[in-house]
Order: sequence, then structure tokens, then C-alpha cells
Amino acid sequence: MSFLSDRVKSVKPSVTLAITAKAKAMKAEGIDLIGLGAGEPDFDTPDNINKVAIDAINAGFTKYTAVSGTDELKKAVIHRTKEDCGIEYHPENILISCGGKHSIYNLFQAVINPGDEVIIPAPYWVSYPDMVLLAGGLPVIVDCAEAQGFKMTAEQLKNSITDKTKLVIVNSPSNPTGAAYSEDELRAIAEVAVKNKILILSDEIYNRMTYGGFKATSIASLSEEVKALTMVTNGVSKTYSMPGWRIGYMAGNADIIKAMSKIQGQSTSNPTSISQAASVEALEGDQTAVAEMAAEFEKRKEYIVERLNNIEGVRCLNPQGAFYVFPNMSAYFGKSYSGGKIEDSASLTTYLLEKAKVAVVPGGAFGADEHVRLSYATSMDNIKKGIDRIEEALKAL
Ligand SMILES: *Cc1c(COP(=O)(O)O)cnc(C)c1O
Repeated sequence: MSFLSDRVKSVKPSVTLAITAKAKAMKAEGIDLIGLGAGEPDFDTPDNINKVAIDAINAGFTKYTAVSGTDELKKAVIHRTKEDCGIEYHPENILISCGGKHSIYNLFQAVINPGDEVIIPAPYWVSYPDMVLLAGGLPVIVDCAEAQGFKMTAEQLKNSITDKTKLVIVNSPSNPTGAAYSEDELRAIAEVAVKNKILILSDEIYNRMTYGGFKATSIASLSEEVKALTMVTNGVSKTYSMPGWRIGYMAGNADIIKAMSKIQGQSTSNPTSISQAASVEALEGDQTAVAEMAAEFEKRKEYIVERLNNIEGVRCLNPQGAFYVFPNMSAYFGKSYSGGKIEDSASLTTYLLEKAKVAVVPGGAFGADEHVRLSYATSMDNIKKGIDRIEEALKAL
């Protein structure tokens, strides 16, 4: 007999978190493992931010705050969104939550009815389909192959819409591919969404980490009509290297924000008061660290893309943002080794973990099985060693 709900049985655990845990366990056993699986920046949180948190504790800012977040942090979010995305919001348009992931979870709980369809371009962030399932919705996966730069066309969106469609997800720059949509591409997608009156979730968590002069556009900035349908999410985890602080936010339609706030009020209540104080400093304070981190990521990206494309049978697109590369390694499918056979991204990942002692994430988890995801949120030295080992292990096949 199982006491578990059908709801929980419908979802999978997060593969990326599982790989990180496995890599940690191998390291704890003393195995010399290179982790290229991380989904978080490797830099320390900047000192000015840490200091504000310590001051908040000492000042006794350790009680409940308003469920939807402090006025100061909402003001900081409004300021930052205006500065970076050129969009004007008011406090009633903002909800502060325990990470961008929590923001998205609240959104789906607030807008999805059983049987509602959510259009998700693949490769997708691992959590989207399962969060849709947890809300009783149906993920509709749209295959956006490497040949189209991992981006969904307006035509594909149009063809995926039914009378059950509630929402489409746009994640630019993307985890896992690093691909980012141009303004024109976003405009074409927005036009279809407006015409069909569907909501847009714009996940902009990597909007400040872009390369080669590319500047991320927020789809909500394109027109008032698009803005009215768009829920923008962002947070401090990636931009300010603060993943453990658990602060994210959503901006958009005030009625939806209010409904999300009600859900938050009956589940987690406010996000941590101390983290909220620190996040005001992150968003309003000195932004130099952001540019420095992005510049360091760009150097690593240049290196890793070139190295990967020089390995026989590996093809890697050059991403515009985030801190991942998503090479195609399917040329090695069908090869055997003493311990087994490589048939898909999962078995290739196992091979690389056991043979090369390098942790990567299988593309299958992101809905693109010919690929693996490598994170360059680790030192240049680790990246060099990791790619050397991958190259050698692939050659041995
Ligand atoms: C990391 C990430 C998030 C949110 O992370 P939080 O730590 O919950 O703020 C959201 N979307 C994508 C695509 C991410 O990679």
C-alpha cells in the first residue's frame, strides 16, 4: 500500500540536483572528480552584500516580514527592472519569493487548472515540466533543435496552441543551452501570444550574464499589450552569486501577483528577512561585481567552446549567455567499452563520470538526448582538466 498522492507520483526528482549530490559523494570518498555539473556560480557573494546581512541580524531584523516581501526590496526590484529591462512596475506588480524557482511554482499554482496546457520549448530547464504537472497542467514540449539555435520559432508556437493553452515559457538566456532570443525573435513570439491571448512566463534569471556584446531583451518591454500578458521572473541567485540566500521575484499582472501571494501566505509565508535585506543591497548597491563575474564567465566560455569543437565527434554552439554549454555528443552513441555500452546521454554521462571522473548532466533531463550540459561555473584550471579528461575518454571509445 502506498500513502503517496498521484500528484507526487507524477513528478521526477531534479536530475541536476541529483548529479551534484553524486559528485559531492564521490569527492567525499576521496575520488579526484572534476565537477562540470554545477548550476550555480562559483564566486563568493560580494562583501558589500554579506555585510548588510550581518548588520540586519545585529539590528534584529529577524522577524516575519509582509508575506509578499518588504517594501524596500520591492522598490529595489522595480528600480532594477526599469534599469535593466526598461519596464515600469508598481509594488502591487511584485512578489518576492524563496528563489525564482518558488516564484514560478507559485505562478503555476495560481493560473493552471487541471488539463491546461503549458508550452515549453525544449531544451528546457529541468523543473518546468514537473512544476506544471504538480499544478495539474499538461506540459506541451516543442522541440527546438540545435539547427535552429535551440530557439522556438513563432511558427512552432502558433502550431502548438490549442484552446487548452494557458501559457508559454520563454527562458532567455537559456539554461541549459545559453541561447538567447534577439528582439525580433521575441517580437514574433509575442505577436502570436497576444493574438491567442495566452500568458507568457519570461524567465530572465540570466539576463545580466551575456557575452560578445549581446544585450538581453525582456519580452515584456516590447509593448503594453505584451507586458499585460507577461510574468517576468528573476532573482539574485545567478547575477549576484547568491543561490543559497533563496530570493527570487516575479513581476506582472497585479491580480495574478495577488493570487500568487495568497498561495505563498498559506505555504512558506515571507522569504527570509535577512536575505531580503541583503538583496536590497545586491539590487541597489555597487554593480561592479556583476560585470566582473560576467567577464570571467566569458573568458571561460571562449575556452570551453573552442576546446569542445576541437574534439572529434563533438559539436558545440557558441552561447550568448548564462554559464553552460550544451554540446552534441551523439556521435559516440552505439560505442562500447569494458563496463557497458553508450546508448544515450544518461549512459554517456555515467561513462564520463566513471571513466573520466568528470561530472556533467545528461541532455535527456532537458529534453535533448543528443547533448550533455557542461557548466563553466568553476575555475579555469578545473575546466582545462575536465575537458582534457573528456577528450581522452572519448578518444578511448
Ligand atoms: C537557477 C534558475 C532559476 C532560479 O533559481 P533560484 O535559485 O530559485 O532563484 C530559474 N530558472 C532557471 C532557468 C535557472 O537556471
